Amino acid sequence: MSESYQPETLALRAGIERSQFHEHSEAMYLTSSFVFDNAEQAAKRFIGEEPGNIYSRFTNPTVTLFETRLAALEGAEQCVATASGMAAILSICMALLKAGDHVVASQSIFGSTVNLFNNVMKKFGVETTFVSATEVAQWQAAVRQNTQLFFLETPSNPLTEISDITAIAALAKSCGALLAVDNCFCTPILQRPLDFGADIVIHSATKYIDGQGRVLGGAVLGSKKLMEPVYGFLRTTGPTMSAFNAWVFVKGIETLKLRMEAHSANALQLAQWLENQPNVSRVFYPGLASHPQHSLALKQQKTGGGIVSFEVKGGKAAAWRVIDNTRMLSITANLGDTKTTITHPATTTHARISPEARAAAGIGDGLIRIGVGLEALVDIQSDLVKGL
Ligand SMILES: *Cc1c(COP(=O)(O)O)cnc(C)c1O
Repeated sequence: MSESYQPETLALRAGIERSQFHEHSEAMYLTSSFVFDNAEQAAKRFIGEEPGNIYSRFTNPTVTLFETRLAALEGAEQCVATASGMAAILSICMALLKAGDHVVASQSIFGSTVNLFNNVMKKFGVETTFVSATEVAQWQAAVRQNTQLFFLETPSNPLTEISDITAIAALAKSCGALLAVDNCFCTPILQRPLDFGADIVIHSATKYIDGQGRVLGGAVLGSKKLMEPVYGFLRTTGPTMSAFNAWVFVKGIETLKLRMEAHSANALQLAQWLENQPNVSRVFYPGLASHPQHSLALKQQKTGGGIVSFEVKGGKAAAWRVIDNTRMLSITANLGDTKTTITHPATTTHARISPEARAAAGIGDGLIRIGVGLEALVDIQSDLVKGL
């Protein structure tokens, strides 16, 4: 489908290939394998002489549709779908790194990603240095001769720090490393990291791309050349996306723009309201003028997104009081859902990180993260105010 279509059009139309039945809504192909016309066709498919599906661990039409649609939105040559966001991050590590390589990563990344670098990749001889998400000089200082990958998330989880993608991409290029950006919080509707020089985009589709908390999935996007080994790793080892999940994501993408705009509008108003609450000491939201990287955020993102974090006075006890006094909000570690979610990062998503590392990353015991949903703002506010 033509690249010149607007994002809202691509979200609805990119990748459609109708079957013999001319269905209007996208079909779901629940089949583990595919049948060949004859032995010769089977042979040609296996050696790649003829394109076509063989087995759903390799390719599946519903998964291919999801990949085509997301690639169109991110402006990427190719997308490779994975079973989860973590499978996407594992895939780039296993496909693009080898023993003896070095990674520079933002310290403000998803908890499981920190564990992946610190525990899993380390076991295979890959070392990671964690640096500030916002201080480009720290990235430069951490570079070694064997640095192959830069990894960041912007806005970060849960503090919504903004990394300068253009500056860090230029630095990566100058030392022969690749830059991978986890674009989970923004989705391509709000931010397209490849446009700012990143080499790879990562998604946990589990979050906004589904947007309704139903299934897990992920994606890796980039040039055909970079995606080839990523696809090879997945095809061989198996953490691929299921056809059912791909179908859920395809339908989720159709409303992604509307949802991201609505999440952002609710989040901005909630953040402004939280700034005026006497027991709130600090609010973290890129759309606020008080955010330290507000202007950089506006350069990279269309809006501030749907995640708001705030620090309450009184540490863990005060934070738990706010959470336990809610009646409507969902107390869950997930985010990016139409229903508003509330999380205490220090004791849940970031609990397995050492207290020192947590403190270094600025995740205090009084911090609360809200994945702002699509309920009426007044109802979210009245649920939060009880414990404030
Ligand atoms: C949830 C999340 C992941 C991991 O995705 P899963 O689908 O849960 O494996 C990675 N990065 C970010 C920013 C996330 O929020």
